[in-house]
Amino acid sequence: MHPQWNGQFSCFDLVARTAHQPCSIVRVRDLEIGGDEPVVMAGPCAVESERQLLETAEAVARAGARVLRGGAYKPRSSPYSFQGLGIDGLKLLHKAREATGLAIVTEVMSEKDVDVIAEYADIMQVGTRSMENYSLLEALGRCGRPVLLKRGMVATLEDLLRSAQVIAMAGNVQIILCERGIRTFETATRNTLDIAAVAVLKLVSRLPVIIDPSHAAGIRCLVPALSRAAIAIGADGLLVEVHPAPEQALSDGNQSLSFSEFRQMMTDLEPYLSLQREDRRARPELIAMGAD
Ligand code: PEP
Ligand code: MN
Repeated sequence: MHPQWNGQFSCFDLVARTAHQPCSIVRVRDLEIGGDEPVVMAGPCAVESERQLLETAEAVARAGARVLRGGAYKPRSSPYSFQGLGIDGLKLLHKAREATGLAIVTEVMSEKDVDVIAEYADIMQVGTRSMENYSLLEALGRCGRPVLLKRGMVATLEDLLRSAQVIAMAGNVQIILCERGIRTFETATRNTLDIAAVAVLKLVSRLPVIIDPSHAAGIRCLVPALSRAAIAIGADGLLVEVHPAPEQALSDGNQSLSFSEFRQMMTDLEPYLSLQREDRRARPELIAMGAD
């Protein structure tokens, strides 16, 4: 590890990058996250209805996404906002997986919901507000499903890796890290995308790293540019909000892409995906070798 960090990250031994364990691949159904190709996860912020979810699942699958996102249990800033459909939302996610073959990622907010969500989800998402909920993290260590761990909005990278280590120590090393923007003094965007986090995490951690451009931007016109930056810097995937009618979305409509915007974004990402492929070939140390 680079002397700059002098043990700051290597103490998290189950998730740190070492000569012996440079990178790990998280396997989800037939997908490899942290493998040769970035994986795009897309879908609505919240599962709202059968029609909304199935239409979105079909549209994002056609455009090249491999994982469907959608919250059934929603951590909302306001107690008056839509809180999600709960178990009915999980059932709709299951139906969308049957219809499209997409894997499912959905958020778990409470340790009491871990078992039921693990029955329906392929990947368990930990939101920014829960990154330091250690009893939840420990329960996820025992859930038998990969975990997508979002960075807390006021968390350092050391804090993020400490939380990953908590999950790993509880028995689960199938962890994907997600940078989704942090709080700074800037107000033009919802959060500040810390793009350097990807470069740092790739050097100090063995875990795959993805970017959520939607919660970083807060506004849909910025999402494609942040996605291109994510692929250019070597992210292992994206988590993007897409909605059939963003202006009518029950949550995060401002930052959600329409189907045509998502399709266009995926097309525009092609040259960046080629660049990433070339970059990985030129620097094989970036590629998982003998990964677990
Ligand atoms: C989400 O993915 O919809 C979400 C609530 O994200 P975050 O935890 O990053 O705010
Ligand atoms: Mn959202």
